[in-house]
Amino acid sequence: MTGMPAGQEGVAPAADRAGGGHRSLSLPSRAGIPFHSRTIPGRAEQGATAGGHTEAMAALPRFVVQLHDATTLHFDFRLQAGGVLRSWAVPRGPSLDPAVRRLAVPVEDHTLAAGEFEGVHEGQARGSGAVIIWDEGTADMVRDEPGHVSFVLHGRKLTGGFALTRTGERRWILVKVRDEEARPGSDIVTEQPASVRSGRTWQELRHQPQAGQP
Ligand code: MN
Repeated sequence: MTGMPAGQEGVAPAADRAGGGHRSLSLPSRAGIPFHSRTIPGRAEQGATAGGHTEAMAALPRFVVQLHDATTLHFDFRLQAGGVLRSWAVPRGPSLDPAVRRLAVPVEDHTLAAGEFEGVHEGQARGSGAVIIWDEGTADMVRDEPGHVSFVLHGRKLTGGFALTRTGERRWILVKVRDEEARPGSDIVTEQPASVRSGRTWQELRHQPQAGQP
């Protein structure tokens, strides 16, 4: 489809896109290398670089998954790419079951600061505006190509390999790679609903936002 406005699937309200002006398919270059032509070396290749281990560990990109009560309740999956967070709205959230394919709608890049936010957005037209940091950690990039990104996550809830693959116009699919961290049949978003920072659910935050506010 063409000519559809951004976020037409109803999972990415305008308030959610305030963090950056880039479209997710035209990212800024990283270290002067055009984003789309760069394939990030895997862990083994990085390890082979003499003396590079400590630097590589320190430079691991960050990931964050926020649970956001907006027009619809959705998860925001954000993956650091240089100085921004590439972002996808994932209505049903990630899964550790490799058989589960989750729709991920690309939204605009967000600032790194946006990925630190837990609290209640004021003045949201629909939904409470509550946001919790559902999971966070670092990500080892495995492949980074147009329409396909795979990475190994080191989070509190999400660990092991994952892949995001573009399947259509503003439509990607998030899947868990089949590896030792996979948990077939599990439902991590139901099992572990609370914030990894505060231990609070989004409903608790909505009703008592002052406890999490400055
Ligand atoms: Mn959102």
